[in-house]
Amino acid sequence: MSCVSIVRCESYEPSLVEKAVREACISAGMPDVQDKTILLKPNILSDSKEELGITTHSQVVRSVIRFLKEQGAKRILIGDSPGLHTPNFRPRASGIWKVIQEEEVEWADFTDHPTTYTIPYSRNKKLPLPSLLEEVDLLFSLPKMKTHQLMYATGAIKNLFGLVPNLHKSPCHLSFPTREQFASLMVGIAAVAKASFALMDGVIAMEGPGPANGLSLPIGLILASKDLVALDYAQAEIMGYNPIDVPIVAEGLKRGLGKAPSEYPNLKAHDLVKTDYKRIDVQKKTRFFHALILPFFAGPFVRWRVKRQRKAPLFLEEACILCKKCIQICPVDALQVEKKHVVIDENRCIRCYCCHEVCPASAILVDEEIPS
Ligand code: SF4
Ligand code: SF4
Repeated sequence: MSCVSIVRCESYEPSLVEKAVREACISAGMPDVQDKTILLKPNILSDSKEELGITTHSQVVRSVIRFLKEQGAKRILIGDSPGLHTPNFRPRASGIWKVIQEEEVEWADFTDHPTTYTIPYSRNKKLPLPSLLEEVDLLFSLPKMKTHQLMYATGAIKNLFGLVPNLHKSPCHLSFPTREQFASLMVGIAAVAKASFALMDGVIAMEGPGPANGLSLPIGLILASKDLVALDYAQAEIMGYNPIDVPIVAEGLKRGLGKAPSEYPNLKAHDLVKTDYKRIDVQKKTRFFHALILPFFAGPFVRWRVKRQRKAPLFLEEACILCKKCIQICPVDALQVEKKHVVIDENRCIRCYCCHEVCPASAILVDEEIPS
């Protein structure tokens, strides 16, 4: 039985968030944390101001910490590794660093002596993950409710991709170019990480071209579950997707990482569907291609097909501040500066949209944002 607790929380006013977090955690059956060491993984992405609705709100992080302390947690650590993680990175802009200091918990630097793990469901890909995973008793995923240009929606499982230290993330798009392949990698990482609980900040969600350039949308919800697949399933339903069209949800169900929600002790996802949520259009895969043709072709052919399906990003000269973050993160060196403008080699570009995710100036348009 997979229980998802969904409770109302209309704003980030501290007393409202604390009440909602408590209610969600209790009714979702949060694991016993007495005398345990817990690693919290909020979505910090590229550490932006919380009013932009990109990161898990600091008040949600603070309320979770307080509830865990009240329940007897021995030690609490918080960590994330943005794609362009510089040495000594601290999530100051998002307000999470302030919470860490004020609540006297610890920051976990995932680049500090990571261990190499073999990731299942992904051709035994080897990836570094924090060695801390062996030391902590429990891992909690604290995602933000957001659309995602590549994966349609982020969520509790995708949030765990941030366990992979900084620039080890973007080359994964080269090895796993289709949405389905990338979803297998995400589910494999979640299987290795063994998160035992997730709490999602859906007070202010994101719609449109997420996870970094969409629009804030007040949804007024906190969701929690011990089953990360069930939580992501409920999120997809609220956003108006058929949940099994979201590749990470479909893969999580297929691999037995979790189940579709079967119990809602509070609000029910199907009563909260926002039909006008600005979703990313789902590209239906052709069964024939995926079941019969794809397995016989690797690498170049699959990448060629992805390029035909998705548009290369468009760079807006007038908005660009030439920070070069896009150039740093591009896994295939498709970008360079020429005459003070970022130019793209469309033949090299694998349409992973990592550049779009890190651009601080909304100077990159992808897919449906690009005028035809
Ligand atoms: S240009 Fe952007 S979308 Fe294309 S490969 Fe580089 S990071 Fe990915
Ligand atoms: S990340 Fe955005 S602002 Fe920075 S150089 Fe690239 S396009 Fe310009």
